[in-house]
Amino acid sequence: MAPFNCNHNGACNDVRLCCIDTEMTLTREDAERIDTLGHSRKDYLIRAPDGFCQLRNVEGHCYFYDPQSKTCGIYESRPEGCKFYPIIYHVGKRKCVVDKDCPSGETLTRQEIRKVCHKVRALVEKLRMEALQGESPC
Ligand code: SF4
Ligand code: SF4
Repeated sequence: MAPFNCNHNGACNDVRLCCIDTEMTLTREDAERIDTLGHSRKDYLIRAPDGFCQLRNVEGHCYFYDPQSKTCGIYESRPEGCKFYPIIYHVGKRKCVVDKDCPSGETLTRQEIRKVCHKVRALVEKLRMEALQGESPC
């Protein structure tokens, strides 16, 4: 299994906080990629109250997270949003922000945020279009 590499400076030594109580949203392409690994959507996806499809939490952590080894069971096929975290899109502010739950978030520079922001925006737009067209994966 591929090691879990923190997207930033690895401040979570005891537990990968981004995999705890996750609210990560998946695109259809994310789900199709994960399906090819033999996982069933009814096991790893839930429909959130806002209508988007999110990773399911089991015992307080992402379905794919192993708290013993602190690894992600689908690391190389993980959702796009997991690759961009802790940079997320704040719909109300209409801009990319660093998620306050990430302990290393404060050390991200504006340049680092800018570098990823256009990809995060594109992902959010894709999720919005899929929801509008009834093509969400769950
Ligand atoms: S898919 Fe992997 S990286 Fe993403 S929240 Fe789950 S365990 Fe963490
Ligand atoms: S919450 Fe932040 S510091 Fe912790 S593993 Fe995720 S990206 Fe790295």
